[in-house]
Amino acid sequence: MPAPSRIVVIGGGITGVAAAHRLTELTNQSSTEVVLLEADDRLGGKIKTSEFGGTRIDEGADAFLLRTPHAVQLASEVGIGNELVSPTAASAAIWAGKLHSIPSDLALGVPTSLMSIAKSGLIPPIGLVRAAFDLVRPASRLDHDSIGEWTRNRFGHYVHDRLVDALVGSIYGADTDRFSLAAVPQLQTLSQAGRSAILSGRRMRASAPAQTGPIFGAPPLGMEQLITSTIADIQRRGEDRVRIISGTPCESLQQASDGWIVNDLTADGVILATPAHQTASLVTGNVSTALRSFETADVVIVTVRVAAHHWPDHLYGRSGYLVPKSQQRLVTAVSFASQKWAHLAQADGSQILRISLGRDGLPVQHLDDADLVNHAVEETGAHLGISIDYSTARISRWTHAFTQYRPHHFHRISEIEQQLPTTLQLAGASYRGIGIPACIADGRRAAEKVVAMLAN
Ligand SMILES: Cc1cc2nc3c(=O)[nH]c(=O)nc-3n(C[C@H](O)[C@H](O)[C@H](O)COP(=O)(O)OP(=O)(O)OC[C@H]3O[C@@H](n4cnc5c(N)ncnc54)[C@H](O)[C@@H]3O)c2cc1C
Repeated sequence: MPAPSRIVVIGGGITGVAAAHRLTELTNQSSTEVVLLEADDRLGGKIKTSEFGGTRIDEGADAFLLRTPHAVQLASEVGIGNELVSPTAASAAIWAGKLHSIPSDLALGVPTSLMSIAKSGLIPPIGLVRAAFDLVRPASRLDHDSIGEWTRNRFGHYVHDRLVDALVGSIYGADTDRFSLAAVPQLQTLSQAGRSAILSGRRMRASAPAQTGPIFGAPPLGMEQLITSTIADIQRRGEDRVRIISGTPCESLQQASDGWIVNDLTADGVILATPAHQTASLVTGNVSTALRSFETADVVIVTVRVAAHHWPDHLYGRSGYLVPKSQQRLVTAVSFASQKWAHLAQADGSQILRISLGRDGLPVQHLDDADLVNHAVEETGAHLGISIDYSTARISRWTHAFTQYRPHHFHRISEIEQQLPTTLQLAGASYRGIGIPACIADGRRAAEKVVAMLAN
């Protein structure tokens, strides 16, 4: 069989960039051309780092998990593995009237020790009593596939609101009552491991190999360094077999008798690394209808600087805090970036805060810039009892930031994929995980699948 001549990747976020990188590895003995097509002038999608008052600060993602291999592996392959930095020992908190340290012994918010949640002061006595029911309740139903239902069934309202929803909701921009349990692997495993979540969590901890070292990492120049380094590596490996075309959206994708036509390019295989709601307009029929029905949540990050003399002593040693749904107005989380990352500490002692607003069911994009900054500054100021300067605020709007994995999400994905030819792969944060490692893994999976199909 002749080698495939062209594979087009549509979408230059981390998924598409990782797919293109893997394609250049897989096709390096052939004449296959790899084309990466990005609508925007800038590559990176939801990964974006820009200067804020002289320091490079991320506008979206600021860290990736080190304990799943894919992001670390990519960073190493593209030459920045040894440069990765990790957060300081500063600790995160949850705000409920005041800041409470996040209890130890949690599995993504699910307690494995009643003592440790009692000590945190975050759960009132009635909530602790209800949480203890987990130890004696019969096994919970799982057919609803809802994180909220499962957690409240085991532990009641307080553990759900102040721990599980606060932690999981902040990762996915989610309302966990309407979010798939199966799509969050740690919770899925825990819910299936036995009758009581506390006892299962404890057993799993005891039998898991001891994990040492930091949990999160990031490139020192910000997350965009992962994109630029990967692109440089693609160009180095692919030389004249690679074309990276930015500022050019895919406007038409058609199936031809022997492959695909992407805009005016013929292709043997295509990877659609675009979010589901955008992919919907590039495909047709039932697949388009199904993808169009995926809902998303918008978020905004307001970055501000707080002068050193306004920063109270009790906030040193903190990396930030989450706001549980029951306590939220618009602010859902605040990261103290210059305490979370040693390399972002400011010489003048000022603090850089990244304030997140909005989630599924808490819209924010209708607000103008001034309103967003007012909300961010007033709510955060009230939580912390400090005064924040408005003048330097940076606003990063993320429309359709997070695809919401509704209950039975994976079932919907597999139904959609069954209707697609295998030379067309869907990849990215809308499908099999939103974290950067999951996106990289999915881009690589799609690349491997297309190359394998074309080789047959
Ligand atoms: C505020 C925020 C904070 C986050 N924090 C973290 C974090 O700390 N850690 C973590 O692991 N994850 C985090 N995430 C999640 C993670 O950043 C994203 O899930 C991931 O970057 C998505 O990558 P992607 O390539 O799948 O999609 P995207 O980044 O959305 O990329 C898709 C690309 O496709 C392009 N495109 C769309 N339509 C077309 C078209 N027709 N033709 C060509 N190109 C097109 C878009 O312009 C875009 O560049 C965060 C996300 C947000 C929004």
